[in-house]
Amino acid sequence: MLAIFLVTCLVAYAGYRLKSLTLSGAVLTVVTGTVIGYGFGWFGLYLLGVFFSTSSLASKYRAVDKAPVDEIVEKSGPRDYVQVLANGGIGMLTALAMAYTSNEAWLYAYIVSIAAATSDTWGSEFGVLAKRKPRSILTFRPVEPGTSGGVSLYGTVMSIVGAATIVLATYPFMTLDFEVTLALIALGLIGSVVDTLLGATVQRKYRCRVCGKQTEKQMHHGEATEYVKGWHWLGNDAVNFASITVAALICFFVFG
Ligand SMILES: [Zn+2]
Repeated sequence: MLAIFLVTCLVAYAGYRLKSLTLSGAVLTVVTGTVIGYGFGWFGLYLLGVFFSTSSLASKYRAVDKAPVDEIVEKSGPRDYVQVLANGGIGMLTALAMAYTSNEAWLYAYIVSIAAATSDTWGSEFGVLAKRKPRSILTFRPVEPGTSGGVSLYGTVMSIVGAATIVLATYPFMTLDFEVTLALIALGLIGSVVDTLLGATVQRKYRCRVCGKQTEKQMHHGEATEYVKGWHWLGNDAVNFASITVAALICFFVFG
């Protein structure tokens, strides 16, 4: 356990220095990594590392081209502790459940939670770079890149690739047959579809009083934005958390 804790500290420190994590995000990364290591050992930490490193790279990929998106999304830049909890909180719960019940379905639920987080992150980070404007998953009307609830072909393909990357990354350590592999990838993708559906329907959205753009930020151009629609308490992090929970729970019931 000490070794797992120390490695997690190193990774969190690197994430902080590389500006992928805020200080609070780095602290929560140590907590998340240690708990996941407690439940799933080095394998759990390894899978978390694949998510963490590929998603950080995806965020940095063509960052300059993604600058306009920062005006729309609730948070950009280094991840804070709420974002770490939104993506890794369910992983921690499955790790604790695994440690105390030894039901192997929790392991699959963990893999799906990480696959869903990766699928969603890759879908957004790459999707905003699609050549054509994304369309609302509900109305199919074009929306600004970065708008929650928008989908593009490129983003969807990258969501699938993201989920598949996590599931295939387990291959050196687990024996999964073809059907199980496909099921886990599909469950990861379901997580990001739920995320998009919640983003299109009940996630809170605002409009800037200065520039008139729709945004998820509560402040824009130095002024408080005006409420447009959605549940006031449901921001991007809560949507992330909810969609990962749904995917992991479905997985637990399928495999349990
Ligand atoms: Zn504005």
